[in-house]
Amino acid sequence: MGPPDPILGVTDAFKRDTNPKKVNLGVGAYRTDEGKPWVLESVRQAEATILKENLDKEYAAISGLAEFCQASARLAFGDDSDVIKNQTNATVQCISGTGSLRIGAAFLAKWYQGNKTVWIPNPTWGNHTSVMKHAGLDVKSYRYYDPKTIGFDFKGAIEDIKNIPETSIILFHACAHNPTGVDPQKEQWDELSSVVKNRNLFVIMDMAYQGFASGNIDEDAYAVRKFAKDKHNMFLAQSYAKNMGLYGERVGALTIVCNDKEDVDRVMSQLKIIIRPMYSNPPINGARIAAKILTNQDIRQLWLKEVKLMADRIITMRKQLVDNLQKVGSKKNWQHITDQIGMFCFTGLDQQQVERLTKEFSIYLTKDGRISMAGLTSKNIEYVANAIHECTK
Ligand code: PLP
Repeated sequence: MGPPDPILGVTDAFKRDTNPKKVNLGVGAYRTDEGKPWVLESVRQAEATILKENLDKEYAAISGLAEFCQASARLAFGDDSDVIKNQTNATVQCISGTGSLRIGAAFLAKWYQGNKTVWIPNPTWGNHTSVMKHAGLDVKSYRYYDPKTIGFDFKGAIEDIKNIPETSIILFHACAHNPTGVDPQKEQWDELSSVVKNRNLFVIMDMAYQGFASGNIDEDAYAVRKFAKDKHNMFLAQSYAKNMGLYGERVGALTIVCNDKEDVDRVMSQLKIIIRPMYSNPPINGARIAAKILTNQDIRQLWLKEVKLMADRIITMRKQLVDNLQKVGSKKNWQHITDQIGMFCFTGLDQQQVERLTKEFSIYLTKDGRISMAGLTSKNIEYVANAIHECTK
């Protein structure tokens, strides 16, 4: 018997709890203010349009739907980027963000000529280490989060990156860092880019939350576009789980940025050779929906509004959580809650406090003190604030 997954195990424990007041802040999925999963109206419209087209159910190509791949690369890099203009993107449709990372990692394990150690931020999304190791890459970490400030450890990150052996691989969360909700500022990204360039590192950009951090897809793509502009050797893993709410459809894309079109052909060829024995080719349904949203101008505009709505609700919940903590009498400084962005908030609660929250109040979260802001609603926020106050007195 193996151990349960540290994140998905939280949901299992939540489901077993019979307390009517229970709250699940573990899961990284958007919820409405009624606490319900939300299928975006843009997704519904895309589905209805696709249904009318009466399409067949033939296999996709090994690399997925071409229209989806192109639209994805455009969304990330921007229409006016050199990558798009010169078509130097080798893009394949993958099984959401995780699958994109896994195929990209397999490609590096097989073909990368440099140092095959991936440097990940400390802390990072729990699955990064497993995905990279599973592909045969070594994993080490660089400083990212400063528990003293509950913020980004810019100085520590720069110091560590300056000491990473040349030609190693470095992973960044493009926006809305999971689990901390702490992102570098634009100027900090600029400096990170130049330090990474000096070390001649290969860059993995993991973008699982484009649009979710600020509500604006272009703002959130700053790091990806900056690194592409600075001509790094890089790959990008995109997920549509959160920003289109297509979690279970498993829609994502991997782009390896190449030097020229000949490189693109060679890289595409090798990506197909990696994918074919793993799952043959990706599923069509979710990719059709995402492609429709991205390419139909009316539906795209609606989607952009919906992304903003989701991001805004989360920003509002951050503010309300701080307000409620003050209202119930907490004298602690909770400013980091509103400073952080994206789906998650690193509360700064220690393991004992987390255990008390779960045992005494049936509030479920991961042991590291991370809460999913999307799990908060105007109905449960006071209860949660009070519980956090009780456990942090
Ligand atoms: N990367 C990060 C940082 C994430 O937080 C997640 C999801 O939680 C993913 C990648 C991959 O998610 P998915 O495979 O559901 O697209």
